[in-house]
Amino acid sequence: MSAGDALENIRQRIDAAALRSGRRGEDIRLIAVSKHQPVSAIEKLAACGQQDFGENQVQEAVDKIARLCDQSLEWHFIGHLQSNKARHTGSRFSWIHTLDSLRLARRIAASAEEAGRTIRLLLQVNVSADPAKHGIAPGELFPLVDALLEADLDGIHLCGLMTIGRRAAGESESRTTFSALRSLLEQCQVRFGTSFSELSMGMSDDYEWAVEEGATMLRIGKALFGER
Ligand SMILES: *Cc1c(COP(=O)(O)O)cnc(C)c1O
Repeated sequence: MSAGDALENIRQRIDAAALRSGRRGEDIRLIAVSKHQPVSAIEKLAACGQQDFGENQVQEAVDKIARLCDQSLEWHFIGHLQSNKARHTGSRFSWIHTLDSLRLARRIAASAEEAGRTIRLLLQVNVSADPAKHGIAPGELFPLVDALLEADLDGIHLCGLMTIGRRAAGESESRTTFSALRSLLEQCQVRFGTSFSELSMGMSDDYEWAVEEGATMLRIGKALFGER
């Protein structure tokens, strides 16, 4: 299947899943996860109208973004971000999905301010308490948001939550994970206000369930580009 056909197919499935949950497909942002993919594959998908791309390693992303700077693409950082790499983010990324500490937020904010931009941030929550995953525990969420709001940093805007479902988890476990993240977002809305509106959850194997459970952003790699 060509990249364009794969994109069309996924968008149709997103539309159908959105309809089933009383929403509109166009309100769901599809992020093409282009990690390990060559620039040519990104260009192909961009030519089909895809705008949002996700990368999980700073150096790889920096190189690709430089080579694609003539295209008006929106870049998402979705990997674990070490504080010492945060200085590379401000001029390049519109979104970072993996915030997990106040310290990292300060570094990102400084980099964004220097670049004269605002970066939208999502807090990564390790909903399933998987020891192999990064992200904060659900119990750490409110204290961290309190601390972030207290710090009131310029250059960043806190927009919502992100989680990674366990691979090959199956429908029931995936839905449990996604609905738990949605419940945390709703609690954040009650406590902190409605600027918390984004739920980044759902990948190639589980995105239709994620949409039905309320995802607003999907991160899809292999279903778009093929196996890496
Ligand atoms: C690689 C990756 C994805 C995409 O996974 P696929 O199974 O290829 O769709 C999504 N989110 C994160 C954080 C990733 O690292």
